Amino acid sequence: MTTINILHLYPHEMNLYGDHGNILTLVKRLEWRGYKAKVIPYEPGDPFPRDVDIIFGGGGQDSGQNKIEEDLLEIGPKLKKLVENETPCLVICGLYQLFGRSFKTSDGHLIRGTGILNLETEAGPERLIGNIVINSETFGEVVGYENHSGLTTLDNPEECFGKVVSGAGNNGKDQGEGCFYKNCIGTYLHGPILPKNPKVADFLIEKALARKTPNTKIKLKALDDTIEESAHKSAASRPR
Ligand code: GLN
Repeated sequence: MTTINILHLYPHEMNLYGDHGNILTLVKRLEWRGYKAKVIPYEPGDPFPRDVDIIFGGGGQDSGQNKIEEDLLEIGPKLKKLVENETPCLVICGLYQLFGRSFKTSDGHLIRGTGILNLETEAGPERLIGNIVINSETFGEVVGYENHSGLTTLDNPEECFGKVVSGAGNNGKDQGEGCFYKNCIGTYLHGPILPKNPKVADFLIEKALARKTPNTKIKLKALDDTIEESAHKSAASRPR
């Protein structure tokens, strides 16, 4: 039986507003289709796992980002290699920022990032908080919840994950939200994002299976997403 190894980066410090629900969603959607899922929690100083099929990392406070900075820089080249090799990856808010080059916090402190994604973040004058709806070329409407001080600028704004329909997104100005590079999605969408946007979850799963079993044609079994769709609709209809 195929086992998909999910690397969960820094669950202790980087896990806000339901981010852990993304892991549950990946595990369940794999299991419902007869695959096995193994979650590998990774904390600073842990040995870096040899087999990684999906990378996941959540958000965190500035203080949490500070705590993981050194370790993240150390494993950065390994993560970069995985992303460059098209390993599916989802990083939210705090880790999205640190998959970029750096995050300058509101007190002027610079937290260095891995530079896997071509972007930079600097704290703005106010926190951007609330429900968010975006439109992605690949996934259509994607809904979530954002809460960040960081304003993110992409080197290439065309690389964004989606365009903001309502909410702030990367910086509240250029309409861009997140970053989509190879099979790596960086986004500000907490909520958690995957239970309410099963297409995004299945994208990560499909890419992981395709890499794991390159000679097999992957056709994911359809699941009954009635509950997921109604959660999506209800989130999309909530006023900002
Ligand atoms: N500390 C970062 C910020 O405020 C990330 C917050 C988060 O992950 N929700 O921008």
